[in-house]
Amino acid sequence: MAAPVFRFAPSPNGELHLGHAYSALLNLKMARETDGKILLRIEDIDITRCTQELEKQMLEDLEWIGFEWDEPPRRQSENLSDYRDALLELERNGLIYPSLMSRAEIRAQIAELESNQTVWPRDPDGSPIYPGNEREKLPIDRPLLESTLGKFNIRLDVETAMLLSGTELNWQESGAGPRGETGETPADPKQWGDVILARKDTPTSYHLACVVDDELQGITHIVRGQDLFYATAIHRLLQYVLDLPEPIYHHHALVLDTGGQKLSKSRHDTSLRQLRESGISVKELKDLIKLP
Ligand code: GLU
Repeated sequence: MAAPVFRFAPSPNGELHLGHAYSALLNLKMARETDGKILLRIEDIDITRCTQELEKQMLEDLEWIGFEWDEPPRRQSENLSDYRDALLELERNGLIYPSLMSRAEIRAQIAELESNQTVWPRDPDGSPIYPGNEREKLPIDRPLLESTLGKFNIRLDVETAMLLSGTELNWQESGAGPRGETGETPADPKQWGDVILARKDTPTSYHLACVVDDELQGITHIVRGQDLFYATAIHRLLQYVLDLPEPIYHHHALVLDTGGQKLSKSRHDTSLRQLRESGISVKELKDLIKLP
């Protein structure tokens, strides 16, 4: 059997915190224990929030905690044509459409739908699912992407993609989801609605770039925080319709603060930089995060 390949995929859009240290070091540990490889991917497609300064700091933080990687890092902003190729393939299969509603129109439509006591469904992150129905009105003639990429958000037609994949979409979970889900886990992409695959101002999205990169980097094991557990349903659907291999998933519990709250990149007290500057040793940091 080929050696497993793991990855840590942070976004340089804020300071790394204890949760990132846990995830990075768990990936490294699992790779070393299985004679596998560990890769670094810099998820920097959000040009408004990701900066070179934050990336530099992120690499320093990773070096400080002893995270190492086996090949030069892959930087998403340098590989935009790979995501475009994937979009073109989805377009050829009639699985994407430009979404025409602005944010204000979406908000207004949902407010109207909810004004008579119906509760419009929310996705697992709590955002209302997209209410537009443009895909029903799509002209038959294509290509649409050529004329709409960069002007509109491009969405995945989840229902049609599900029809292609059949009902048996699932994944192998060797960790656990927020409700203890483990083992063979059914994927329910519909709970996300028609997710965005490319944005008006960014020619891809997290979901698309993530599955394309996982395949291009040959990732076999995805170890990441439980906050991304339900997103796996969309990733599995994309892997299916783009004919990409299925990795094994391992979602780990999040590191919480002393009050039991999720850590965030906007808080400084648990940032790796702050901890390093306060004089804490790496051994103390590892004791804090209780790596298994
Ligand atoms: N870039 C994502 C984050 O920083 C992680 C993506 C992933 O592991 O799939 O939360």
